[in-house]
Amino acid sequence: MNAPAPSPAATPVDAHCDVAIIGSGFAGLAMGIRLRQSGVEDFAIFEKADALGGTWRDNHYPGCACDVQSHLYSFSFAPNPDWSRMFSPQPEIRAYLERCADRFGLRPHLRFGHELRRALWDERAGVWRLDMANGARISARVLVSGMGGLSRASIPDIPGLETFAGTCFHSQQWRHDYPLAGKRVAVIGTGASAIQFVPEIAPQVATLDLYQRTPPWIMPKPDRAVSERERWLFRHLPFTQALMRTGLYWALEARVLGFVLHPRLMKAVERIARRHLARQVPDPALRRTLTPNYTIGCKRVLISNDYYPTLLRANVDVVTTGIARVEPDAIVLRDGTRRAADCVILGTGFHATDPLPRGVVVGRDGRDLLDAWSDGAQAYLGTTVAGFPNLFLVVGPNTGLGHSSMVFMIESQVTYILDALRNMKAREVHAVDVRPEVQRAFNARIQHKLGHAVWTAGGCASWYIDPRSGRNTTLWPGFTFQFRRATATFRLDDYETWPRRAATRDARDARDVHDTSDPLDPHGAYNNERRPA
Ligand code: NAP
Repeated sequence: MNAPAPSPAATPVDAHCDVAIIGSGFAGLAMGIRLRQSGVEDFAIFEKADALGGTWRDNHYPGCACDVQSHLYSFSFAPNPDWSRMFSPQPEIRAYLERCADRFGLRPHLRFGHELRRALWDERAGVWRLDMANGARISARVLVSGMGGLSRASIPDIPGLETFAGTCFHSQQWRHDYPLAGKRVAVIGTGASAIQFVPEIAPQVATLDLYQRTPPWIMPKPDRAVSERERWLFRHLPFTQALMRTGLYWALEARVLGFVLHPRLMKAVERIARRHLARQVPDPALRRTLTPNYTIGCKRVLISNDYYPTLLRANVDVVTTGIARVEPDAIVLRDGTRRAADCVILGTGFHATDPLPRGVVVGRDGRDLLDAWSDGAQAYLGTTVAGFPNLFLVVGPNTGLGHSSMVFMIESQVTYILDALRNMKAREVHAVDVRPEVQRAFNARIQHKLGHAVWTAGGCASWYIDPRSGRNTTLWPGFTFQFRRATATFRLDDYETWPRRAATRDARDARDVHDTSDPLDPHGAYNNERRPA
């Protein structure tokens, strides 16, 4: 158990809202839009940056694009007939999100420059107390996290990295002000981000050393421009775009058969990837270097048509000897070789299994979310966590996908949260906390399914797996329509509930509580009125 949290009631608040949403990426915006559409206006979206867009604002490295088709990787309620390509580049996705914020009237609800430092559940008042890095103090009855699972850059623990005297940055913090032309560049990592930016920068740089620890499986990318004619059709006959979306959905959904149900089916997929490699890399030695030794799908399957050809360039070397240390002007390999570098680019991914630092989310009895997750993250339906009342996580544990669009999962979760709020209102419930046994049973079921999946049985190490428990805490083990069905209805019986009796008092408390004594309820209404549902 962590150190006791400061008394929440000792801090005045600047503002109160019924629903506080953290983050303005796809998740936070979807939540805000659907709240407005259901008639709720008492909410705010707190965003740490000075612009919206989440991962599509933060990641702007050269070549950044979505590896899921745009006609599916977009809101179902806001089709965009103008996608320029099947897999649209980052600036288009970001612009799409900006347009959605305008079109659905979210601007008045957006609070930029509000980075959440701490969210503390105030049991007595039944509200979340939010401390922002800018000093603002907010209270909210309901807290929705749209902070995403891949937002904290992972900086590798390589000895001497901090002594590097040249320029070093992570792919998520791309230094567009640093001219790469003519530089000796070292790229560490060969994941989804690196395979997008390496082909973009290789033609400019003097040399590019690509440090590969594990080769990824790479499939051909079925990308193409969307023709003017198609865009006209999508604009004037919207059902044509809906048809395309549906077709894409089912084509991607079919992959679950291999990923989860019959990993042996992945052999057929592997053959396509091997042919792609053989066609693009004629040199047998390089081909061997680039051939993974685990079942395809175990790590995220990547798609690219220009990655392998880039590795054939005379100025590119794939380095597979491990890195021993970094010196001010070079990378030193385990065999003692020094490779000089002016710039190091880290394509080393994100903290996926521990997306939050300690002390940011503190629930009942001062319990830190990280303590509740000491052997790996878990939630009920990827959304609610026992001991954290009225906290809803969008893109929570086990909602990630290896095969389709996260926007589909996000919309499913948002539907669930809206239904929760509707139920709470109709049944005069102030707060809900998922029953621990419900959460446990749910996780036992999905972990059982995950035991057979390629991510577990495929023979690789990946960020899908929590290093402490060996459990897959990130991916949904099934079809996305199963998740949609599971989240279609909020079942109040799955939750412990607090009645709304003291709601008027809450609102007053939330606005201007300065001391802990409560004239209406000296025992603390929420401590004593917790009602077995
Ligand atoms: P990633 O897939 O986790 O890849 C990180 C790479 O860095 C891996 O090759 C890893 O090697 C390597 N690495 C990490 N630590 C290292 C170390 N200490 N020494 C040497 N190599 C090291 O990260 P990412 O490419 O940023 O992608 C992360 C996720 O973001 C993706 O899986 C995907 O979900 C998402 N993403 C999506 C898109 C999209 O188009 N939708 C695009 C980019 C990213 P190992 O494999 O050996 O660990």
